[in-house]
Amino acid sequence: MQQAIVQLQNVTKQFADNPSPAVNNVSLTLQQGDVLGLLGPSGCGKTTLLRLIAGFERLQSGQIEIGGQVVCDRSICVPAEQRDIGIVFQDYALFPHLTVAENVAFGLKQASKQQIQKRIGEVIELVRLEGLEKRYPYELSGGQQQRVALARALAPQPQLMLLDEPLSNLDIQVRLRLREEIRDILKAAGTSAIFVTHDQEEALAISDVVGVMRQGHLEQLGTPEEIYTHPASRFVAEFVTQANFLPARRQGNLWETEVGSFELPVNHATETGEIMIRQEDFILKPANDSSVVIRSRRFLGREYLYCLKTASGQELHARTITDLALPVGAPVQVSIVGDAVKVFS
Ligand code: ADP
Ligand code: MG
Repeated sequence: MQQAIVQLQNVTKQFADNPSPAVNNVSLTLQQGDVLGLLGPSGCGKTTLLRLIAGFERLQSGQIEIGGQVVCDRSICVPAEQRDIGIVFQDYALFPHLTVAENVAFGLKQASKQQIQKRIGEVIELVRLEGLEKRYPYELSGGQQQRVALARALAPQPQLMLLDEPLSNLDIQVRLRLREEIRDILKAAGTSAIFVTHDQEEALAISDVVGVMRQGHLEQLGTPEEIYTHPASRFVAEFVTQANFLPARRQGNLWETEVGSFELPVNHATETGEIMIRQEDFILKPANDSSVVIRSRRFLGREYLYCLKTASGQELHARTITDLALPVGAPVQVSIVGDAVKVFS
């Protein structure tokens, strides 16, 4: 059976000079071996939550457990260095005057020389930096430097890894490659991890569980699939998916919008709301009597991105595979794949 590695209960942190808490009543459980992606816009409290778990900040209320041990509540606060955590920051934070091997060895003080050499070899191999052991940080690319930071954090075999936007300083090619590799590396090491990012695609790609934060709150916690297909709020839907929102009015199980009516199996108490339609869930058909018109079409390789204009002037975005190119100006009938729509009231 899986065991909880991190357990947060109603964790709240308010900075003295701030009117609202940076982290507000956050509760979550991370299972051993899982990667949690903490996702949210800048300023929503991701770094503060990570720093609370690491032991660099103290909470006002709530409780933090790591590996079954309470490390922080209103009376206890275990110092950061006793929490058995590895940390990777956005800016690598390597020691410039130490070589790759010396950087990696930094956290391995208690071991014998032989053990240290063995462990350096293992983690260097894990992050694929073989042959670069004697280089200094300035002789490495950004991606390589972040691999060193990862190796250094992993070397003492911490029970938990915390990574704060580790890929944000890298250019897109390196970022895409390293994000796949980081997941593999964490899995190979068997380490539980919390990975902070403001990039939704990165969070979905790297995580077993995603936590979406907004203004200090944890808005939703779920698997990448759950978060994407069943966003709990319009905020999550907007942040995680590429969706359109249309005003809608309910008649029984049917929600009427200006582009058509959509049936929703779920019972809703409200009469009005906003219907969410993801860009990829549209089906477009030429229809001369439709009031929805194609305003523009962009070729994206695998798909077309259409901008549609409704009778009221609202713009909708639709992505469809490129087997049929509909001309700009053409009226189209809009329908939806399966039961992919959702309503927020
Ligand atoms: P994120 O990492 O999601 O961008 P942060 O955790 O850095 O967000 O910040 C959350 C909020 O807390 C922000 O409003 C920020 O200004 C505030 N904050 C963070 N650190 C401090 C601090 N040391 N003192 C005062 N306010 C802070
Ligand atoms: Mg941050």
